[in-house]
Amino acid sequence: MKTFIRLSATVSISMGAAFVPLSTAAIADPASQTIQSVHATPDDYFHTGAGARYLRRADSDIVVQPLRGNITELMGSGGNITVLSGKEGKFLVDAGIGKSKNKLRAALDKIGPAPLKYVVDTHWHWDHTNGNAWMHDAGATVVAHRNTSKHLTETTHVDAWNWTFEPVPENARPTLVIDDKRTFSFAGTTIQVENFGGGHTDGDLWVYFKEADVLALGDTFWNGFYPYIDNEDGGSIDGAIKWADKAVARTTDHTIVIPGHGPVGTRTELIAFRDMLVTVRSNVAALKRQGKSLDEIVAAKPTAAFDAVWGNFVFNGAQFTKMVYSGL
Ligand SMILES: [Zn+2]
Repeated sequence: MKTFIRLSATVSISMGAAFVPLSTAAIADPASQTIQSVHATPDDYFHTGAGARYLRRADSDIVVQPLRGNITELMGSGGNITVLSGKEGKFLVDAGIGKSKNKLRAALDKIGPAPLKYVVDTHWHWDHTNGNAWMHDAGATVVAHRNTSKHLTETTHVDAWNWTFEPVPENARPTLVIDDKRTFSFAGTTIQVENFGGGHTDGDLWVYFKEADVLALGDTFWNGFYPYIDNEDGGSIDGAIKWADKAVARTTDHTIVIPGHGPVGTRTELIAFRDMLVTVRSNVAALKRQGKSLDEIVAAKPTAAFDAVWGNFVFNGAQFTKMVYSGL
């Protein structure tokens, strides 16, 4: 039997400058709001979903991993954050979560005194954009794909997360918007920022630091884990495979390949990720063609060969199977 307690509608999770309401008052349906807002442990993004995981992780220290060519990786604030630091300032890929602001600031200061100049949001998800506001206030121009900018400035409900994201504050909104691609010349580095249509979401960007040969892929690459695919917002398994193919084609064994989640990787790991996506898609599609229902497909375990390796982070094989199925 479930226990219900009344939560105040004003209870919030503090995340630095930003607040995400702990109640589900933002959910549009008043009837469901009444039910969910009194539930002690609602099944949503910030209680049982990935958001809860990232909030917990942010209590630990930021892991700092120097790469090459003045590029450093910061891990532990939501998605991975890539930092290029030069005389002109710092150019970041993804903003992490606001809760880590002080730890991130300390880690960034340790890299060097140069001020924040740019932060590129690889996509709209909270664990990659929640730090936008403080980074903007610290001097960064927030860069994003047009659809990411749209998600951040509109109300976006994600059924799979049982959560409604309200428009972010003015200072957290992208002001430099990209459609297909843009090349930056910054701190002696050529930085190619590109979109290839729907992938993990409808507004992904990858960021390639040309001279250092470092490719930051955002959530179009999860190194060693089943990825999330935002089917509700333009992502799909086929888009995810297309992006992975593009990344495989663009890289060599020399390239440092940075995922949105998981350790800094190599092209070999990227290929293993791509091959996993392709095989799971093919298995799920074959079962679907046989006329099996989603429940039957999940029961058939089309991810079985991969679960021991890939199913140990946010998503297990059954959850990933459902995501793949939704996109077919
Ligand atoms: Zn994401």
